[in-house]
Amino acid sequence: MDTVFPAAPQATVAVQGEEARFPVRRIFCVGRNYAAHAREMGKDPDREPPFFFTKPADAVCDTNTEIPYPPETENFHHEIELVVAIGAEGRNLSQAEARSVVYGYCTGIDLTRRDLQQQAKDMGRPWDWGKAFDLSAPCAPIVKKDQAGDVDRARIWLSVNGETRQDASVEELIWDIDEVISIVSKTMALKPGDLIMTGTPAGVGALKPGDVVKGGIDGLPDIEITIGERAA
Ligand code: MN
Repeated sequence: MDTVFPAAPQATVAVQGEEARFPVRRIFCVGRNYAAHAREMGKDPDREPPFFFTKPADAVCDTNTEIPYPPETENFHHEIELVVAIGAEGRNLSQAEARSVVYGYCTGIDLTRRDLQQQAKDMGRPWDWGKAFDLSAPCAPIVKKDQAGDVDRARIWLSVNGETRQDASVEELIWDIDEVISIVSKTMALKPGDLIMTGTPAGVGALKPGDVVKGGIDGLPDIEITIGERAA
């Protein structure tokens, strides 16, 4: 196909044990999916239907990336998350069918400009400027689902400069992986390459230039990023 200028390179995430990479199509993110995090955000956790936001595919970057402190924020937050990588098309899936479209799982960080997100909440505006910016979705390599261990009950943690900030279990998800996949698939067709960031446990907090951020989920490769100077 002719294009009037070179098409953007395909956004990808590494796959453990493969030279080939996972091509990213869309990134869906679940809001407030751990009760203790909902409380620290000033909300009552409940079983109201989950809500979603998105990030552009090219927000992904690899582990061991230096991420410049982003513009337009004074409150740049980490959110460690289990990421589900979709490898097959799925529409209107039941919870029992949900895992059939999963390719694998990885550890990711939903980087957030919390002040811009809060302003958007206060004004009833979209969250995009708080959530969907450049390099806002670092992801460690994906592990194929049959090699990933029991991610549904795995420990999930994040540290900043060696100090633990987030430490919980994926078992604490309000809406579990099967439920989230089923719900998304009833709203739109899931397609190969989609990523679902499943939400963050309590302990989110601010980052500053020079911080070393490490995170992990049992059974998956750890992630590590450093925060660079503010973009000029
Ligand atoms: Mn999040």
